[in-house]
Amino acid sequence: MSKSLVERIIRADVRALSAYPVPDAAGFVKLDAMENPYTLPPALRVELGQRLADVALNRYPVPSYTQLKAKLCRHMGVPAGFDVLLGNGSDELISIVSVACARAGAKVLAPEPGFVMYGVSAKFAGLDYVGVPLKADFTLDLDAMLAAIAEHQPAITYLAYPNNPTGTLYGAGDMEAILRAVADNGIVVVDEAYQPFAQESFMPRLPEFNNLVVMRTVSKLGLAGIRLGYMAAGAALLQEFDKVRPPYNINVLTQTAAEFVLDHTAELDRQAAALRSARSDLAAAISAVGAIEVFPSAANFLLIRLANADKVFAGLLQRKVLVKNAGKMHPLLKNCLRVNVSTPEENASFLVALKESLQELSRESLL
Ligand SMILES: *Cc1c(COP(=O)(O)O)cnc(C)c1O
Repeated sequence: MSKSLVERIIRADVRALSAYPVPDAAGFVKLDAMENPYTLPPALRVELGQRLADVALNRYPVPSYTQLKAKLCRHMGVPAGFDVLLGNGSDELISIVSVACARAGAKVLAPEPGFVMYGVSAKFAGLDYVGVPLKADFTLDLDAMLAAIAEHQPAITYLAYPNNPTGTLYGAGDMEAILRAVADNGIVVVDEAYQPFAQESFMPRLPEFNNLVVMRTVSKLGLAGIRLGYMAAGAALLQEFDKVRPPYNINVLTQTAAEFVLDHTAELDRQAAALRSARSDLAAAISAVGAIEVFPSAANFLLIRLANADKVFAGLLQRKVLVKNAGKMHPLLKNCLRVNVSTPEENASFLVALKESLQELSRESLL
């Protein structure tokens, strides 16, 4: 049989993949994607609208993005002497790093379960990916990490700080040990997508480690829609990554919106503080339901473990509440659900739907 056009031209490993699944959430309480539930206040939105209306849509962006980068450095605590590289979301930065480091035989290493794009991006760039299991309580298995680093000499090691989908904030001492073990043989990307909720950071420590790259995004902060990520590292590394970056990767609307919001960070800080306090409330309320394990989280979501998670997930869906059925993602996540921390109202809706789903299950088991 002759091969189809697709079989002839598309890589076998790409054909074997399924597309990144994004469920249609219309009509649902959406607690599956770590979005910030809050929007900008009306007065700021009107002002932003005016700014966006004045943007020259007929012109290409100026690809140096000097002003936006300077604002990010100033507001996000990038140490003096360091700069940032911008990406169309940190997903693009992960891809840029992968492509730039894809020498023959180069490897990528990350703890698992972790952020899926590290592995996906590695694969697309032709890098080998090595996942190192976390301990059962989702803390780092430092011995296993050090052994894997010695064996594989990874060009890129990813540490999400805190980790997605577990919410774990790894010990800073363990992170340092990994940075030292990797030494000059690779870079360590500390992915701080959830920094506003963790309030811990390796950003100030850039001068200490020449192999450290600190990656951030505005997505979880409340601007997921504009697609903007940034990474800070030493100039020599950034210069090389910049060659792989598509020249106009940040569009003028994103650039303008980001610069505007960076002038009003107090609002985002308030929102992050509200979510941090809602996180403890929600964790306590879920624990009070009984027979549910709530893992410690430094992010804007909680990972929980409970019996019959698949059925509870289905019960939540029936009640129009969408969370992430994490059990499908990794064997260590068996019977786990990942739920966003949201507004008090949405958190309450989740709790009601959770309790109803559990009651329904216990009724069924009595029949
Ligand atoms: C959400 C997330 C990202 C991706 O962020 P974008 O900037 O929206 O692409 C990166 N890393 C981790 C760990 C995340 O959870």
